[in-house]
Amino acid sequence: MSSEKRVYAFGRGVNGVNRTEGNRGMKMILGGKGANLAEMANMGLPVPPGFTISCQACMEYYNSTPPALPAGLPEDIAEYVTELETKMGKRLGDSSDPLLVSVRSGSPFSMPGMMDTVLNLGLNDVSIQGLIAQTGNVRFAWDSYRRFIQMFSKVVLDVEGLEFENAITSMKNARGAQSDTDLSADDLEQLVATFKDIVAEHVEADAFPELVGADGRVAFPQDSSTQLRLAIEAVFRSWMNDRAVVYRKMEKIPDDLGTAVNVQSMVFGNKGETSATGVAFTRNPADGTKEYYGDFLTNAQGEDVVAGIRNTSPLHDLPAVFPEAGAELWQIFETLEQHYRDMCDIEFTIEQGKLWMLQTRVGKRTARAALRVAIDMVGEGLITKEEAVLRIDPAQLDQLLHPQFDPTADYDVIAKGLNASPGAAVGEVVFSSADAVDAKAAGRKVILVRWETTPDDLRGMVAAQGILTSHGGKTSHAAVVARGMGKPCVCGAEKLKIDAASKVARVAGSGVELHEGDMISIDGTTGIVVLGAVQLVEPKVTGDFDTVLGWADEYRRLGVRANADTPDDAELGRKFGAEGIGLARTEHMFLGDRKQIVQDMIIAEDEAGRLAPLAQLLKVQTEDFLGILAAMDGLPVTVRLLDPPLHEFLDSPRDLAVEVAKLECTGADPALLASKKKLLALVDSMHEQNPMLGLRGCRLGIMFPEIYGMQVRAITLAACQLKKAGRDPRAEIMIPLVSVVAELETLRAESEKIVAEVQSEQGCVFDIPIGTMIELPRAALTADEIAKVADFFSFGTNDLTQTTFGFSRDDIEAMFLPRYLERKILPRNPFETIDSGVAKLVKMACELGRETNPKIHLGVCGEHGGDPDSVKIFHAIGLSYVSCSPYRVPLARLAAAQAALAEKIAGSDNR
Ligand code: ADP
Ligand code: MG
Ligand code: MG
Repeated sequence: MSSEKRVYAFGRGVNGVNRTEGNRGMKMILGGKGANLAEMANMGLPVPPGFTISCQACMEYYNSTPPALPAGLPEDIAEYVTELETKMGKRLGDSSDPLLVSVRSGSPFSMPGMMDTVLNLGLNDVSIQGLIAQTGNVRFAWDSYRRFIQMFSKVVLDVEGLEFENAITSMKNARGAQSDTDLSADDLEQLVATFKDIVAEHVEADAFPELVGADGRVAFPQDSSTQLRLAIEAVFRSWMNDRAVVYRKMEKIPDDLGTAVNVQSMVFGNKGETSATGVAFTRNPADGTKEYYGDFLTNAQGEDVVAGIRNTSPLHDLPAVFPEAGAELWQIFETLEQHYRDMCDIEFTIEQGKLWMLQTRVGKRTARAALRVAIDMVGEGLITKEEAVLRIDPAQLDQLLHPQFDPTADYDVIAKGLNASPGAAVGEVVFSSADAVDAKAAGRKVILVRWETTPDDLRGMVAAQGILTSHGGKTSHAAVVARGMGKPCVCGAEKLKIDAASKVARVAGSGVELHEGDMISIDGTTGIVVLGAVQLVEPKVTGDFDTVLGWADEYRRLGVRANADTPDDAELGRKFGAEGIGLARTEHMFLGDRKQIVQDMIIAEDEAGRLAPLAQLLKVQTEDFLGILAAMDGLPVTVRLLDPPLHEFLDSPRDLAVEVAKLECTGADPALLASKKKLLALVDSMHEQNPMLGLRGCRLGIMFPEIYGMQVRAITLAACQLKKAGRDPRAEIMIPLVSVVAELETLRAESEKIVAEVQSEQGCVFDIPIGTMIELPRAALTADEIAKVADFFSFGTNDLTQTTFGFSRDDIEAMFLPRYLERKILPRNPFETIDSGVAKLVKMACELGRETNPKIHLGVCGEHGGDPDSVKIFHAIGLSYVSCSPYRVPLARLAAAQAALAEKIAGSDNR
């Protein structure tokens, strides 16, 4: 035995010995599957015994070149195999009563179906006879052997699964069999021979020298310890397979955790009609209803249920078919929920009437189900309100805000399937993952239509708006993965006859055909499929949503505001619980039909020439602010004065040059030509090398005081009008891109003068706070000086990130950021989750600001305000509020509550 402990036993043997070395707390060592198998064994549940090889051993495997099992591990494995053989009273590869095992992957974080598993290991030409003798079931034995060769060859020896599928299909055709269960023992024995030939033909001798026989040909391995070693290495290798790597990236799971390997004695759901296998949830994972949920298949093994090979039966029919095992399973569901204090998912197998538990974990669920389950469990006294709030994943709430079919829309349903993952989606039909990826890259929206998805479809699922399958139940691959991604999914729409090779799907009994590129709509909440694009509408939030967010509001300290530029957005933000507007941008108000006025203003040669366009703008801006302030009546509205470089409002010089050249050629309209030339010259003269570091923000206010003056006047006018109408407008003026205090001093003085002027004209005096954005490092570094003349700071963390790193966001996100993330030069995209260096500047600026102005109000208005991880950091820094897009307001409320609760828990731990 090596000094390092790498192998852990679990389970009670037929000899009555229960030696279990792990528990659920050991996920980082045993992986989720191994830790929970150990936990169930500790609880006394019926778990087939086995042992788990640690995730650390997997990383050791990768750390040698070429990858190899670490020294000592083969001996440890041999020792645990012997112990398992003793527990079971059988031996691997034995000719009279062989022990068979599964070799299962399982990492610290669940990665459903991403890695590999081999079943029925230990069968060979000799032990098959033992299996026949022991079970008296010839058909079962040959079926197990052919499954083993098939899985082993695919997973370990890298033989295309299709080779075997084709062999099965031709056998079925030859026998006129409908399903694989119609094949006889003889047929299966013959398939085993065919499968071995496939192996001999497709496996390279160089790749697997240990499989080369005396005749120089590759043969399927007969020695069970060779089988076991190769399978263990293959499971380790599956940690780095393509789809696992993609999945980890998507789920932000680190690459250096490794997978454990669980070697577990086999139980058989394929021993005839008294046997079955199934997948279950203790509650409905789609909507959270307290009911047992899942699918099972009689006379089937493991993967059959999720692979959609045959149609499954709903779990609630189980007790009718298997009264004893059914009753025991229901009892176990209760035990597991009490023990884990959460909804669990389960894999089980019934072997000749006897129930076995093969897996459990806290079950994945939709956001809707997460809320329902949490609220119910508080009601049941299983968890506290705090735990309920801590349990909901803020990022997942997004799902609930997904669009739905417009209830007033007219549409024809062409097919109906299972409502596997909620939300509606519209897009063009594509039949392959690769096509989905290409279409997405070309900017098209697609629905991925598949017979059933496999882990190889992952990239396509990520690229698609929604997923539609014709096969598989609510626990099929498509359903589980789509729910995890929060993507709409309809599965098992059986009327759809898909011919993926010729890119067409026929809807049985209707004459409707779907071709690649046809528009369809799916509704994952109801399971319907519609030809054509259905109008989507924004969702109404449910009572559960409000209940949990209401609880969150009781615990959070951080305020949450919305970023909104229109009355509609302001209202939406308010509906989602925003306590004001943290950022009302004014540049959008300068576009559309107003662009011409703005151009006239910019082109004007002097202040006098700017007066007329400014007067026009004043009128429309006042209307804008009236709308927004009215929608946010009684709550603060922080209006940012004009920020972007002016050239954004002008025509592109390239287009202008083309126009000038055309006019010169045709000589059509000399007056027009002259004015275009003048415009071009002006635009050229305004050209900047780095416009984002140029004439923008408060620098505009200094250069063109009348623009900011107009905006301040409009804000004050709108507020006065509302005040006089008995409303409660709470406008705040925010000056962007300040780097030296003198900028703010100057602009503040000018603004205050105008505010006072307008208020006295209007005969109505009230306070309009004036503050600044902190979005340049110099501002953060001199925040103590700036705070003396600011009523508030709002951290513009987008620009602050750009200027702290010296990154131009639009450029780097397309160019080198992906590489930086891949090579782990940056841990995360700093524009999504606030970077630690930028956070340090924010923290410092807060401290400096409070030193000279204890009353200063501090918020964040960058996109980071809607990122749960960043919200936690802002909470820790002690900001007063975050402001984010209206749809992210609920998520920020929840994340803020979780930050406060986490702090409370940490505090009580310290005592
Ligand atoms: P995954 O992580 O992809 O679900 P699993 O390791 O859970 O892979 O195994 C795949 C399938 O094989 C599951 O349905 C599982 O229940 C079944 N299975 C695994 N080990 C055994 C075993 N020892 N006996 C019977 N079925 C098993
Ligand atoms: Mg599993
Ligand atoms: Mg900015």
